[in-house]
Amino acid sequence: MAGSTALCWFRRDLRIADHAALFHALRAHERVYCAFVFDTDILGTLSKVDDRRVEFIWHSVSELDEVLRKHGGRLIVHHGRAQDEVPRLASKLNAKAVYANHDYEPQAFARDQAVAAMLAENRIEFFSFKDQVIFEKDEVLTQAGRPFTVFTPFKNAWLKKLDEFFLKAYPVENYLSRLAKTKNEAPIPSLENLRFRGTNLLSLGIQPGMSGARTTLQNFLPRMAGYKERRDFPATKGVSYLSVHNRFGTISIRELARLATAENNEGARTWLTEIIWRDFYFNILYHFPHVAERAFKAEYANLKFENDKYKFEAWCDGRTGYPLVDAAMRQINHTGFMHNRLRMIVASFLVKDLLIDWRWGEKYFADNLNDFDLAANNGGWQWAASTGCDAQPYFRIFNPITQSEKFDPEGRFIRRYLPELEGLSGAAIHAPWLASSMDIASAGIVLGKQYPKPIVDHATARVKALALYGLAKEK
Ligand code: FAD
Repeated sequence: MAGSTALCWFRRDLRIADHAALFHALRAHERVYCAFVFDTDILGTLSKVDDRRVEFIWHSVSELDEVLRKHGGRLIVHHGRAQDEVPRLASKLNAKAVYANHDYEPQAFARDQAVAAMLAENRIEFFSFKDQVIFEKDEVLTQAGRPFTVFTPFKNAWLKKLDEFFLKAYPVENYLSRLAKTKNEAPIPSLENLRFRGTNLLSLGIQPGMSGARTTLQNFLPRMAGYKERRDFPATKGVSYLSVHNRFGTISIRELARLATAENNEGARTWLTEIIWRDFYFNILYHFPHVAERAFKAEYANLKFENDKYKFEAWCDGRTGYPLVDAAMRQINHTGFMHNRLRMIVASFLVKDLLIDWRWGEKYFADNLNDFDLAANNGGWQWAASTGCDAQPYFRIFNPITQSEKFDPEGRFIRRYLPELEGLSGAAIHAPWLASSMDIASAGIVLGKQYPKPIVDHATARVKALALYGLAKEK
């Protein structure tokens, strides 16, 4: 296609380095325009005007534009329905083809098919590439040629298939002179023009964009070797905090996997396993899209949850009376992040202590997590609710007190988000209602006033949960 023009459509891949679609577009065409659409079909579903994700994207898109400009291009940024904007823009630019990276979410997949069909009407091709995972679709299958539904054999097959080829970076930098820019394009709309407003994102120290991803990665690299020992303790800086960058593609997953495989220690191997979990859930969503709506396991499709709205609100607000659960919920509410161990604990608590449908919790996370990703979030919730493919067995129910004693032994994390419990000792802080009245009084707390009494009794709730799941199994 010598001499021809193409359009590279950025979505959840807001970087230029090691970018599959951009590389293929630049290699095949003389002039490549770059575009991003603030898609009203997506933005319209967001309930809050101060949504950290929109701000994260806005900063990342602005940085992407700056970097493209340094190389002679620019980012065309539109606000509207991507489904309409992309075909219109491609026609206006006289593009022969539109390039993008695969998106595995059912709605995004449908959108891309609609875009491809509209482009085809104008004889414009649509090419899309694997970029956000190491292995996709049918690349890792069982010997019988079926998708894996259990993680460990998937991981083993994944590791067996992995070689340098799959981790190699796309050398985008060799072709950047082909970036094109339009004249008279409107500037990037402000957050206010998008009908959103600034959040506490930057003051929390969350750094968006390619530069933010780089800083976060540099901070993690010296800690990677200690990942295995430290990753389960929310008060400790043990994890990478890269998930929001993985979500928006401000860093390449190939680069992360390459770095993990280059280090020969248990920390790096354990961290790589998390990247494989990420691939696993993308593969599950791709092969079993029904999980987005209902239980992976049919026998758990109609669990009779109690769905008490008052209890759900208490969980959302961090007022259950279980300090680690409450501290975790206040972490997500205040920062949009929640540590993985805590995600497992609060999810188990919602479903198996409060007996609330996992989809309510899944939706709350979807609305509030900076790194919200349909595949990983659904996978995590279905795991905790025991409804998923390779899930926690239904009779394994986290005890929120022993989890707290084990993973936040001195209550350091709890104190960070529940200052009202500051005065309690490390031993008493996990279950204040069990502390002696002297301990409670000397901490200056009246249970039910500054801090709630527990809204359920774990032992009683556990018995109810076992019965609820047992009933479903009998059917
Ligand atoms: P690290 O521990 O440093 O892991 C490295 C990377 O691996 C992460 O950045 C992430 O991209 C990936 N990863 C790690 N653990 C998992 C996992 N279990 N499944 C899939 N990918 C993983 N992760 C999301 O990215 N988005 C979500 O919406 C999401 N929702 C979750 C909901 C529940 C109920 C649970 C139990 C887990 C969820 N996770 C989700 C997975 C995990 O909690 C986060 O990826 C992790 O806490 C992010 O922190 P980190 O970047 O420091 O991770």
